[in-house]
This record gives sequence, C-alpha cells and structure tokens, in this order.
Amino acid sequence: MPPRHPAKLGLGNAVPRASLAAYEAALRAHSAFPPALDRWWPGRTRLEIMVSALLAQNTGWANVALAMAALRAAGRLSQAGLERLDEAELGRLIRSSGCWRQKARRLKALLAWLRREHAGSLSRLFRLPTAEVRRQLLAREGIGEETADAILLFAAGHPSFVVDAYTRRIFTRHRLPLDRAWIAAQLPPSARRYRHWHAWMVETAKRYCRKRRPDCAACPLRPLLPAVRP
Ligand code: SF4
Repeated sequence: MPPRHPAKLGLGNAVPRASLAAYEAALRAHSAFPPALDRWWPGRTRLEIMVSALLAQNTGWANVALAMAALRAAGRLSQAGLERLDEAELGRLIRSSGCWRQKARRLKALLAWLRREHAGSLSRLFRLPTAEVRRQLLAREGIGEETADAILLFAAGHPSFVVDAYTRRIFTRHRLPLDRAWIAAQLPPSARRYRHWHAWMVETAKRYCRKRRPDCAACPLRPLLPAVRP
C-alpha cells in the first residue's frame, strides 16, 4: 500500500523516521538533479552572492537577477561601486527586487558596517569562526537566519545549513525535526554537502513538493515519506 501523505496522518502514529543519509542518497541518485548542484547559487564574487542573498528576501529569483543585472550594467557591482552610490541611486537600480527602499537602506548599512568593523574586507569577516560570523550577520538590520546562513554557506564557504521555506515544507511533511544540532549530527558539517542540500530542497520543492497538490508519485523522496502503523 502506498504511503499516505503526512497531512493525513494522525499525530503519534508515524513509524520511525529515516536518517538524513537516506534522503541524501535518494536525492543524489535522482536523475533530474545534476551532480554540480553545490554551485547552484549564481554570483561571480562573494560580494555578489552576499548582495543577492539580501535582495532575494521576499521575492522570486527572476527579480533578483534583474536587479543584479542593473547593478552590473551601471558598473556598480563591486564594493567600491556600491559604496559610492547613495541610497536613492541604489534603490533605483534594485527596484525590481521589491521593497527597494528598505533593501537599499539595509545594503548600505551592511556595507558601512563592513567598512567600519572589518576595514571593508569580506575576507577578514569570513575568516572568523562560523558561529561568530553568524552572530555578527544576525546583528545587522534585516538579516535573519536564512539570509545569514545563505551568506555563510555560499559566499563565505562555512558549513551552515540553510533552512528556507522549501526546506521547512519538506521537513514538516516528512516529520523531520528542524533542529540544527540534530541536522549536524545526521549530516557532519561540510560546506559542499550543505550547498547540495540547499539546492536539493529548493529543486525538490519547486518540482514536486509544491504548497498545494504535491506530486509525491514522481518525487524521489516518496519512499521516505512517513507511513502509518497499521
Ligand atoms: S512531494 Fe516529495 S518531498 Fe513532498 S511530501 Fe511528497 S514525497 Fe515528500
């Protein structure tokens, strides 16, 4: 009998969950996912990745790409270029990413902080221990856990697991705990591995695990969907 969707399961009657290693094996073996997914986040430099992580808040990637293209076309997609822009000019260039006044203010504040506290050097910031970089990023206006972890993982190369809406949806439907310590115990930290995981979660959610009407039949994670005890 095929596993039932977890939304239809009663509380307390799920069988023990599979390990994340089993999920990893299923995702890695799926023919629709290319092997180089660890390079999934676009961006030519660490600064570009950091800027796009901030612009990606509450909008689709196509809008971020337009804003990044506008910055590039204006010759401003560098630290010096962004620092020379005033907030209004920056806002005009990133308008397509939505909430542009707020994002321009936050980006300018982030760059000013980087200049003040780390001599404008991302290398100096990213050399710090993972927990310390995370703490400092989370203290910046408008940088929450998802953005901080994306910057850590894709720009800085630190093994920080990203929990976004897609990951939350899949973990919830599979009754997996969204607990950083549990995840780290299941998946010994590795930046490359965590980059793969983030890409897998996004791709799986977009292709199969949609908000409404998930396509479990075609999904590589279907064998791991919690079943009910008889
Ligand atoms: S679509 Fe895939 S990830 Fe989502 S609940 Fe179904 S089997 Fe799980």
